[in-house]
Amino acid sequence: PLVLGIESTCDETGVALVEGTDLLVDVTASSMDEHARFGGIVPEVASRAHLEAFLPTLEQALDRAGRTLSEVDAIAVAAGPGLVGSLTVGNAAAKALALALDRPLYGVNHVIGHAVVDELVHGEFPDRVMSLVVSGGHTSLLLIEGSAVTVRELGHTLDDAAGEAFDKVGRLLGLPYPGGPHIDRLAREGDPTAIPFPRALTAPKFKATHAYDFSFSGLKTAVARWVEAEQDAGREIPVADVAASFADAVADVLMMKTLDACREHGVETLVIGGGFSANSQLRDMATTRGEAAGIDVRIPPIRYCTDNGAMIAALGSAVMRNGGVASDLGIGVDSSMPLTTVSV
Ligand code: ATP
Ligand code: FE
Ligand code: MG
Repeated sequence: PLVLGIESTCDETGVALVEGTDLLVDVTASSMDEHARFGGIVPEVASRAHLEAFLPTLEQALDRAGRTLSEVDAIAVAAGPGLVGSLTVGNAAAKALALALDRPLYGVNHVIGHAVVDELVHGEFPDRVMSLVVSGGHTSLLLIEGSAVTVRELGHTLDDAAGEAFDKVGRLLGLPYPGGPHIDRLAREGDPTAIPFPRALTAPKFKATHAYDFSFSGLKTAVARWVEAEQDAGREIPVADVAASFADAVADVLMMKTLDACREHGVETLVIGGGFSANSQLRDMATTRGEAAGIDVRIPPIRYCTDNGAMIAALGSAVMRNGGVASDLGIGVDSSMPLTTVSV
């Protein structure tokens, strides 16, 4: 079946068409430029941008794929988690289409979409997959079974998400928003062993309670303290070394815990998704350590890591393939949808 996917959880308006695990088209409009001068997403501005961008994005997607709305068999939409106002625009549009075309609606989980989008690139998931979803709002370890029939959350961040920590450290180093990609670029020229930043929740005493949880706010504070001390001493900040040491600390903890989880649960396939999986330090470390551990590491190309319609269409398509039931047209949106909820 031909699935139309709609994404509007944050600042990206995404529309895509997927058939099985084949991606026909993926079009994204972003309001990021409108938020940059505020140093963060302004929900009101994002909602309005979705309203303006939706129809042109849909038309462009259909046009590029050479398909018409009447050929669409089902509508999938991200029903959460995300910004309520943004979600509402995409969900209202999805319901209107489902109603007008008389096709089933599938309200799906955005974060699980960040993992399942990989099926469009590397093929259908094996029965059990470990997934590290890392983005601006999430850092979670998920055990996905039966191509997203069930999802178990093994752990998550207790404070900042990985991308959020990068953005905050970016701000304190005076880099433009969002800082993540800038730190990535700087880190490539620095020495990752220059400064020994802390690896939170990795001590043996956390094994019982927080084996697969993360914490990045202490690391961010450690970077701030280190930079302040250098400034107080009248020394110039070695920005590339700070970026490299910080990025190494983040990637190290993420991979340490993720590979431990793969071993403990006997899972041989790891899928990394979400905006932060664009990070080159994490990608490099995942590849080398995964290979050494005999784990098949799947990371989609960067264009599928950030928010897009393809991830939503991919998950809608998987839910249909697995015999999932369609959503009621009366569904609401859930800004804090649990990661164990695949579809509503
Ligand atoms: P969520 O999916 O949890 O709702 P989101 O949609 O805001 O969050 P994404 O768009 O998936 O998040 O990811 C954006 C985040 O990824 C930002 O914090 C950004 O700084 C970070 N990021 C993007 N590219 C890189 C990179 N190369 N290195 C580090 N961080 C990056
Ligand atoms: Fe996202
Ligand atoms: Mg985004």
